[in-house]
Amino acid sequence: MESTLVTVLFTGLVVSGLVKLSALGVGWGLARTRLAERWRVYRRALAPGQLRSEAWAAVGVVLCDALLVGLFRYFSGPRMAPFSVPVALLSYAWMFVGFEVWFYVTHRLLHTRRLYRFHSQHHVAQVTEPLTSLSFSLVERLVLMGGGMGMVVLAMQVMPVTQAGVMGYILTNYFLNVVGHSNTEWLPRRFVSSWVGRVFFTPTFHALHHARYQGHYGLFTVVLDRWFGTAFHDYTLVHARAREGQGLVRIGERLSPVPVPEALPATQSESKAA
Ligand SMILES: [Zn+2]
Ligand SMILES: [Zn+2]
Repeated sequence: MESTLVTVLFTGLVVSGLVKLSALGVGWGLARTRLAERWRVYRRALAPGQLRSEAWAAVGVVLCDALLVGLFRYFSGPRMAPFSVPVALLSYAWMFVGFEVWFYVTHRLLHTRRLYRFHSQHHVAQVTEPLTSLSFSLVERLVLMGGGMGMVVLAMQVMPVTQAGVMGYILTNYFLNVVGHSNTEWLPRRFVSSWVGRVFFTPTFHALHHARYQGHYGLFTVVLDRWFGTAFHDYTLVHARAREGQGLVRIGERLSPVPVPEALPATQSESKAA
């Protein structure tokens, strides 16, 4: 059956919407568990009106993505290589690494005085929750999606690209984004000091970006923040506190490895353990 532009757009809306809803459903389900309650990174309520603002932004993002993904598939679909495992893995790796760089650079630019207005919707959340993963202005969404699509077009000039590899990355992106905005530290303490944790992010890593704004600009990896000096020095300490069930209670709170018993009695155990 020949696919028309309308059916491709409609399929884009349904598939993109369902995938996002599924990711959100998993995120909200996990957020209600007792473990999530224990491992909160910030023990603070959401801002008044935050959920409503994020929900409206998410509607715009779902429609925008459906249109862009539908159009992109319609025009690039015929140029995709047939499926094979090596090509799918290569496409996936290309998308993952390329988008990390695109995200870090554009995210830093969006934090400049002139461009922050396009990014401020995402920072309605000082304390994040799963819906924050879809809370973007349309301009920022176009930048993100444009970068992702540009990555595919660029790759097509030099290597075969499969639909499966690209779709696999998009799925990873949606689900990791929900996890990253869960304000819940799911990974154990030893993760952040392991070699894996020196490459990949944790929910604590991104929760700190939302609370403090300037720093932790990376998406799912911490490498560029480490290289460019934008990582917070107390990241591992905040991570440890969340895992101890003693998440931060103040937005401006910074942790020091030096014990300050009279000021912060709760940090004693964490400082000893660090
Ligand atoms: Zn975020
Ligand atoms: Zn930001």
